[in-house]
Amino acid sequence: MKNIKDILPGRVLTDIEDLFCYGFDASSFEGLPSAVIRPVNTDEVSIAVTFAFERGVPLIPRGAGTGMTAGAVPNLRDSIILSLEGMNRIIDIDDKNLVAVLEHGVINAALQNKLESMGFFYPPDPASMDFCTIGGNVAENAGGPRALKYGVTRDYVLGLELVLPNGKVLTTGVKTHKGVVGYDLTRLIVGSEGTLAVITKIFLKVLPQPEEIATLLCPFPKLESAAMAVSKITASKIIPRTLEFMDHEAIKAVENYKPVGLPADAEALLLIEVDGAPASVNAEADKIAAICTSLGADVRVADDIYSRKRLWEARRSVSPALYRISPSKINEDIVVPRSKIPEMILSLRNIGDRYGLKIVNFGHAGDGNIHVNIMTDKNNQEEYQKAKDSVKDIFEATLRLGGTISGEHGVGLSKAEYLKMELSPLGIELMKAIKKTFDPKGIMNPGKIFPADI
Ligand SMILES: Cc1cc2nc3c(=O)[nH]c(=O)nc-3n(C[C@H](O)[C@H](O)[C@H](O)COP(=O)(O)OP(=O)(O)OC[C@H]3O[C@@H](n4cnc5c(N)ncnc54)[C@H](O)[C@@H]3O)c2cc1C
Repeated sequence: MKNIKDILPGRVLTDIEDLFCYGFDASSFEGLPSAVIRPVNTDEVSIAVTFAFERGVPLIPRGAGTGMTAGAVPNLRDSIILSLEGMNRIIDIDDKNLVAVLEHGVINAALQNKLESMGFFYPPDPASMDFCTIGGNVAENAGGPRALKYGVTRDYVLGLELVLPNGKVLTTGVKTHKGVVGYDLTRLIVGSEGTLAVITKIFLKVLPQPEEIATLLCPFPKLESAAMAVSKITASKIIPRTLEFMDHEAIKAVENYKPVGLPADAEALLLIEVDGAPASVNAEADKIAAICTSLGADVRVADDIYSRKRLWEARRSVSPALYRISPSKINEDIVVPRSKIPEMILSLRNIGDRYGLKIVNFGHAGDGNIHVNIMTDKNNQEEYQKAKDSVKDIFEATLRLGGTISGEHGVGLSKAEYLKMELSPLGIELMKAIKKTFDPKGIMNPGKIFPADI
């Protein structure tokens, strides 16, 4: 691409071996950009965006490239990747007003660790927290195990600094814990998957750390009992901080990948945490243990921070462990109302049997968010086609039960063809009109969310 190296000397990559490094994310999609620009401040982002705007070139913002739906994958010829990994400063933690200000490239765990050392807490904790950026979390409205009690990224974003597609810089939202002046542009940008603007700075609400946490590992001899326990715990009016679920195949995969002593004979397990004041934590933990025991679980309590950390390491290893078995697995993240989890699990079993495919399930059962992993090999064309076909059946079953086709991974490229299954034509038309207002030339991450034919 002519002249691109001159716009920000030393920040632009065009060598083929460099371009390859920016051609993929955690989905199985791949592409090759024409150039990669790596700005280190908002002015440089603005220069890069203006360059793309003036030439009408597709621009793809990229955080750490851990997205599951190909949002950061270069899908069109002559596109530029705007790699934002270099802007990773935590600018301020205002302990009097409980607000953190940071650049978008800060790694989630770096923020968590810094806050923890000061006695604070930022709840959104995607399993990829050790390597994904907060900017990517905002762009995807990422969730995590703690979303059940504390909500998702959107619930913590007070304001944003943005570079609009014409290169102008806009600050949205507030630095206070309340604010209702005008339309809520901040919430509109959260979850917009890089299709409306580039996020350069983020104002986040933070919380004080809870006093005490109890962690329970509950292995069940039957999958149905684990699903039943989820409904019973919520019906008992306890909102745990996490209520994670792994089926037998997920447990086996983790034990083969990074053994931590999970009960490999269990058909399913729940990893449950409660937090708060010590007295209420103990009472809630006892109540949950009683519910799970009555359904046949052999409940174990993590005695110290090390065993707690080991259990979470195991939970966070599920996805990498499954990738090792099946590098081209298809991973969906459907959500159904909690009470419908047993029915959904049954549907998934039936769909797997019908297509002759292995489907491994785990996820955030407390909020009905199931990560459905269709274990397939791209090199086996016939099987891979079957796996792709089964996705539509899975989405149909999800929507029939009143669910949604994505709880946290977004639409990106991989789910764009299914958008019409969930959204009405009127809803899509309105969203596209909003996109056009922000991005009249259509340079921001084109082809993501909205497929070419709508
Ligand atoms: C092992 C594993 C576990 C995961 N677990 C979870 C989980 O528990 N919960 C969850 O929600 N997700 C999870 N994910 C998915 C992924 O980590 C999240 O979607 C994360 O938010 C992506 O961040 P990123 O920095 O890698 O963004 P990228 O993949 O680089 O980009 C994702 C999207 O955001 C856009 N984008 C990135 N930065 C910006 C910016 N500054 N401005 C505008 N747009 C931007 C990109 O264009 C793209 O559309 C997991 C992924 C892996 C590999």
